[in-house]
Amino acid sequence: MLQRKFDKIVKGYFPKAMDAKDTSIHYLGKMQIEHKLDISRILMATSVCSDDINVPSTTFFNVLFGPFIMGGLGGLPFAGQTGMTAFAHHIPDDGSAFIFYGPHIGITLEGDLGKMYRPRQEQTGNSCGALMLALSRLGDSSYTPVINDDDYQQMKLEESLLPYREQILDGENKEKAITEATYEIIDEKIHSYIKACKNEFHVDKITLLGGIIINTDYGLDDYFDAKNFEVIDLKNL
Ligand SMILES: [Zn+2]
Repeated sequence: MLQRKFDKIVKGYFPKAMDAKDTSIHYLGKMQIEHKLDISRILMATSVCSDDINVPSTTFFNVLFGPFIMGGLGGLPFAGQTGMTAFAHHIPDDGSAFIFYGPHIGITLEGDLGKMYRPRQEQTGNSCGALMLALSRLGDSSYTPVINDDDYQQMKLEESLLPYREQILDGENKEKAITEATYEIIDEKIHSYIKACKNEFHVDKITLLGGIIINTDYGLDDYFDAKNFEVIDLKNL
């Protein structure tokens, strides 16, 4: 019942979003049937935010090996080209790669984006915390992030968002806008690391599934708004 209520609210913001179970069935089916990939020989990597709330939302592909964890705060692939290379070297012989990536955003039954009820907490908290912190800082026009060793990921995340500052602050829904901008940043980085590391893969196919994870209440299915599904043939890259 509660799930059905969430379904309506989530689809008000993300009309094409599917719940976690439907997402895995839909895309694993496509990989197997349309692309003839052997599901039993796929290694998965993720580039999603470190937030504990995303652990159940990424295990919905748990029939696959992995995941190799590339993501840090906000979901940016902080493991970089070295991480992509290591992942490439771990793929089963005659298998293929699968990378699931994107930022996340919480939603409440009241329809608030950027917030969620976490396990055994009475009050809502931010989700994604890193992005909502970045949003509050970028709202101050005099603010510039200072890259430092002790808060490296957050500062890099904020720096990556600077070119999108105006677009985010002018957005009808700033929480949604900063999440969408972060998706663009992650998507661009994943593609560029694959290109840079293409000779490290001993297999031909890499499946990408990128989008926005939408966190609902604890215990209920999360949703996923897919923005990119593609099977890259490294021979043609
Ligand atoms: Zn987060």
